[in-house]
Amino acid sequence: MLNGLKGLGVTLRGALRSKVTAEYPKEHLPIDNRFMGFPALTWDAARDEPYCTGCIVCVRYCPTQCMSAQMQDNPKFAEGVSHRKKIIETFEINLGRCILCGICVDVCNFDAIEMSHEHERSERLRNANRVDLPTLLDMGRQYQAEVGWKQSKPNAASPNERAAAKAAVEATKAEETPENPETQAADDTDIPEKSGGDAA
Ligand code: SF4
Ligand code: SF4
Repeated sequence: MLNGLKGLGVTLRGALRSKVTAEYPKEHLPIDNRFMGFPALTWDAARDEPYCTGCIVCVRYCPTQCMSAQMQDNPKFAEGVSHRKKIIETFEINLGRCILCGICVDVCNFDAIEMSHEHERSERLRNANRVDLPTLLDMGRQYQAEVGWKQSKPNAASPNERAAAKAAVEATKAEETPENPETQAADDTDIPEKSGGDAA
């Protein structure tokens, strides 16, 4: 009898406790910033282009060989508005083979890839979960907005920015340099002689 009442107490306490699980996929629990979902490519809003240069370091290190990438010359570098000589042209990840190890993020030197919060991309067909460059960039932009993402180091100066900085330095130097000595001498000759001599 006593044990029965104890058991009933445990049941009642459990029934009154607040819920700690959710009925996925109908309900979603909030995702922690540290959550590692599928890899995604980040977007450089200042340059209005991806951070990825297509260097393929991540492709070479990926243990499941589920990535492929191709670089191209960056037209924005030719215009002088970007510091990136090369930029990504095509990028594909077969998410069905990705094991979410994060090695691609660790080896990237350009802040170009992050483990996003995306985790709901299951497909019925084998190899149907290949994502292309626009999709990877969409996933990246969403992740950047969610976590208030910041790049680890500032961008290098673009050719136009370097030229503007050089022109500013030269203008400052020209202002600080004393006037041309020849001009100064010519100015001195224009000064009228003292009138004391005429009085003698
Ligand atoms: S994500 Fe990083 S490592 Fe991979 S190709 Fe782009 S720049 Fe290179
Ligand atoms: S997380 Fe790992 S398996 Fe997935 S793409 Fe990156 S390196 Fe490859």
